[in-house]
Amino acid sequence: MKYDYLIVGAGLAGATTAHELTKAGFKCLVIDKRPQVGGNVYTENISGINVHKYGAHIFHTSDKQIWDYVNSFVGFNRYTNCPVAQAPDGKLYNLPFNMNTFYQMWGVKTPDEAQRKIDEQRKDALERMHAEGVEEPRNLEEQALTLIGKDIYEKLIKHYTEKQWGRKCTDLPAFIIRRLPVRLTFDNNYFNDSFQGIPVGGYTLLIENMLKGVEVKLNTDYFEHREELHKLADKIIYTGEIDRFYDYRFGHLQYRTVSFETETHDMPNYQGNAVINYTDSETPFTRIIEHKHFEAFGNEVYANPVTVISREYSKEWNPGDEPYYPVNDERNSALYAKYKELADREENVIFCGRLAEYRYYDMHQVISEALKKVKQLL
Ligand code: FAD
Ligand code: UDP
Repeated sequence: MKYDYLIVGAGLAGATTAHELTKAGFKCLVIDKRPQVGGNVYTENISGINVHKYGAHIFHTSDKQIWDYVNSFVGFNRYTNCPVAQAPDGKLYNLPFNMNTFYQMWGVKTPDEAQRKIDEQRKDALERMHAEGVEEPRNLEEQALTLIGKDIYEKLIKHYTEKQWGRKCTDLPAFIIRRLPVRLTFDNNYFNDSFQGIPVGGYTLLIENMLKGVEVKLNTDYFEHREELHKLADKIIYTGEIDRFYDYRFGHLQYRTVSFETETHDMPNYQGNAVINYTDSETPFTRIIEHKHFEAFGNEVYANPVTVISREYSKEWNPGDEPYYPVNDERNSALYAKYKELADREENVIFCGRLAEYRYYDMHQVISEALKKVKQLL
């Protein structure tokens, strides 16, 4: 055998496992069907701006070890995600839900006033749940209504979520909305984590540095070369879709996919923020990303006379589309469990990453899981 490990996928899961196994003295071959490394975190330089080609990515974690780990490959800047929502009433609101949002929504100025307003807003939904003898919210709508109440649900959550997921909020799991912080402070930081930033030079540089000294073959689809690739290595780390690995024998897992309309504009500052969410139902896209704000702050924005924006459209995935978000509803979770049973029986294949584990992982979680998996191999 020429290699100890064949690693399918040059995204974060593939790059982390490849880096660690190479460091431990194993010979690895990384393949990717795409023409470039990075998976979904790939960034491309357009007019001097690192454009997040597969969607905006903000690195955030509270795990000091993971933060030090990524910083050992590339420096990170001080970007803090503070998205703004353009709501159906035509007004702008700060996200996540915090004192600024509550002031903009209801005119309340103190945490006590805001709490009273939220309690009043949640009352109906809580009473309904109690009357039905339900302890835990059964879906995203119930979760949102009992967490933050109806005004915010209707103006900032319902339509955005239904556009993003293509499903009714009553058919989506509650946990999706628990990702968003709710705070009684004037703090627009979208994340609660201790560490946050964007790699200086873009995510592609991070991945390239992780893959230094590792053999990488691009434009190579595992399934088109399965037989010859198996002759090269005994063990496989697979970071692609798990259902495809098993020829969809139990059926297709569903995903949401995203399409991007990227434009360069001849102006230095298009929207004044990296992320503006459109939380109404009429606007067909979910958000507009202005990439330069991830890496240029204050007046630095004006150093480059042009700007690049991407409108993001969320769509149902069809075979052939890029799979982005696993849809962890009941049907798909049950289907995944069947594939996982097969995967657990594999002796020489390790399933790792967002697609192979069919989990809604953030980047820091992918790295952390990949490090755990490698540890078990050493
Ligand atoms: P991927 O990046 O999908 O990599 C898998 C790789 O495997 C791909 O390059 C693919 O081409 C390759 N591959 C698949 N099948 C084959 C095959 N048959 N043969 C060869 N190669 C194959 N996380 C955050 O922490 N912060 C964020 O702000 C954030 N924003 C996000 C925004 C969007 C729109 C999306 C979709 C995700 C976001 N994430 C974010 C999550 C983040 O993208 C993932 O956690 C991470 O990139 C997953 O890495 P991965 O290696 O598991 O998968
Ligand atoms: N969400 C929302 N309104 C917003 C932003 C997010 O209702 O303006 C909801 C939506 O359901 C989304 C979830 O919160 O799926 C989690 O948001 P996050 O930004 O974490 O999603 P990501 O795009 O990172 O997966």
